[in-house]
Amino acid sequence: MDLRNLTIDEIKSYLETIGEKPFRAKQIFKWVHRSIENIDEMTDLSKDLREKLKNDVYICNMNIVGMEESKVDGTRKYLMAMKDGNIIECVFMRYKHGNSICISTQAGCRMGCTFCASTIGGKNRDLTSGEMIGQILKVQKDTGESISNIVLMGTGEPFDNYENVMKFLKLVNSKEGLNIGMRHITISTCGLVPEIRRLADENNQVTLAISLHSPNDELRRNIMPIAKKYSLDELLDACRYYINKTNRRITFEYSLIDGVNDHLENARELSALLKGLLCHVNLIPINLVKERDYKKSQKERVEAFKNMLESRGIEVTVRRELGSDIEAACGQLRRQYLKELD
Ligand code: SAH
Repeated sequence: MDLRNLTIDEIKSYLETIGEKPFRAKQIFKWVHRSIENIDEMTDLSKDLREKLKNDVYICNMNIVGMEESKVDGTRKYLMAMKDGNIIECVFMRYKHGNSICISTQAGCRMGCTFCASTIGGKNRDLTSGEMIGQILKVQKDTGESISNIVLMGTGEPFDNYENVMKFLKLVNSKEGLNIGMRHITISTCGLVPEIRRLADENNQVTLAISLHSPNDELRRNIMPIAKKYSLDELLDACRYYINKTNRRITFEYSLIDGVNDHLENARELSALLKGLLCHVNLIPINLVKERDYKKSQKERVEAFKNMLESRGIEVTVRRELGSDIEAACGQLRRQYLKELD
């Protein structure tokens, strides 16, 4: 068992099975969510107990196998290997309001969005909650800086790994652990409708981001296979349900692809679609993926798109591009690494 994947209560139950005092659970949990990497570093446990623990449990650490740092803004992109050799990536970003990390939730992805590099080789497996925590701890250790914001926007579809993501939220939010508030965490989904409703019912305070990328079903189906499963009507119904339940504002991500979804008509359609909804649109000029022939929208077109939305009362920002000099976007580094292995 990976200790990093267990709640305090689960550690307690385990300790009981080996005849140890349950109060040790909190102590062990605290260690595991600091930057220690093996059981022997738990210096306030007796050597006997540490040996006993080692018979059944371990700490599953991530291994840094590659890192690129942006000369422009200090953004760091990490390639990490897990115990079974699967590779994921995560990104460390500095903002005025604190350090942020973008973590992966799956090794690969099976959603098939046509503009995204993470999905090209399909999905290998889900990450455990402990492996999601592990990314944060490893980056904190490597940078020597603490992280205050988390976005689940790395490789993978968080709602295709729902249970582990929910457990991750619980672990990372725990005051004995990293103690990161729900409001400092963003989950991004390509739009799995049942899970959006499920999250609404959890009524926690995380920020929900929806990858929309298109104002109508036809165009959306061309670039995102998930749109064949759920129509925009169904998706927006689920969003309204979420907003009513949680009273939280939703972020809609809209990656602008030159000549595909960046026409003024698309902006008009988008503003009609989102009218009256408690939301915010984040425009992202698409990052070039070598395997795809999509191009980034011109600056003027991005501006025009933004202005059109604004003039129609939609709150909108253009995402500041961090790490533009280091393939920081969406599975590109992992992709390159896996290709080199081939
Ligand atoms: N599967 C989740 C989270 C991971 S992707 C989701 O779809 O939301 C994180 C964000 O990056 C999504 O909005 C995704 O659509 C976007 N994205 C993927 N490839 C991109 C690219 N080449 N350029 C810009 N954004 C991209």
